[in-house]
Amino acid sequence: MRNFSIAIHGGAGTLVKGMMTSELEAQYKSALKEALDAGYSVLKNGGTSVDAVEKAVIVLEDSHLFNAGKGAVFTADETHEMDASIMDGKTLNAGAVSLISGIKNPISLSKDVMEKSEHVFLAGEGAMEFAKLNNYAIEDASYFYDEFRHQQWTEIKDTDSFQLDHAKKKDSKFGTVGAVACDKNGNIAAATSTGGMTNKKFGRVGDSPMIGAGNYANNETCAVSCTGSGEYFIRGVVAYDVACLIEHKEMPLADAAVEVISNRVLKLGGDGGLIAVNAKGEIAMPFNTEGMYRACKSSTGVQEVSIYK
Ligand code: ASP
Repeated sequence: MRNFSIAIHGGAGTLVKGMMTSELEAQYKSALKEALDAGYSVLKNGGTSVDAVEKAVIVLEDSHLFNAGKGAVFTADETHEMDASIMDGKTLNAGAVSLISGIKNPISLSKDVMEKSEHVFLAGEGAMEFAKLNNYAIEDASYFYDEFRHQQWTEIKDTDSFQLDHAKKKDSKFGTVGAVACDKNGNIAAATSTGGMTNKKFGRVGDSPMIGAGNYANNETCAVSCTGSGEYFIRGVVAYDVACLIEHKEMPLADAAVEVISNRVLKLGGDGGLIAVNAKGEIAMPFNTEGMYRACKSSTGVQEVSIYK
């Protein structure tokens, strides 16, 4: 039997030990573990990597702790606009949605775009129309209300500034979520979901729903899900850049992932991290910030749930 594995993240940023209470830290770790186990059991039971990454991301979207789904941050208009994407490394099929609201699990909508439409990327009103056609319930704004999130927004609402969850200027305890997995058949997949940045406006979209920037999967190279300052990750075409280093420079997965995060993205001025797997089930989880909510598990016995460096 081939190795199978999964890695997940819940955002990277100013995560320094001692910054949060031990109760909150325990809550984060247990949410990460729950998502990890949900994805891993799909793989263990012979399921596909696409289903495993969706499952893991759904658990993270359903938690108020992370900036995705239920925990999505507030826009300048005091609403929520979410982005998500998913990619199947076997077929190179992909689906993405952006600027959607009221959808409990944006990752499932992006999977439906991949599987039930002839398109890759649907945005705004059109994406919402597609969701309604596919019988998605539209949740009330109260489902997404979170006191801490609202406080984050209130602090900057009448300014022109926006706030990345992991920005250096503030303590950050939340973030975009993602999962990458390799199944028993050596097929890999990546999924990413986010609420973007607090107080965002003008229809701002980050890297998370952009195939190649925040999310990418190809059996020949790797599956990658990113978190960080989206504008830099878009310009660095980060997820695809990791795949390019593997394909064209024949770099091992771990080296390629570190080169992109600790060298190329940093040179651009971006901060954040990524998780990656390849078809051998190898895992990499580099970040250039103080911490990254992350976890991984593989059939070879590797298991980790961590926050800090
Ligand atoms: N990359 C995301 C964005 O720019 C934010 C994050 O990773 O938390 O929208």
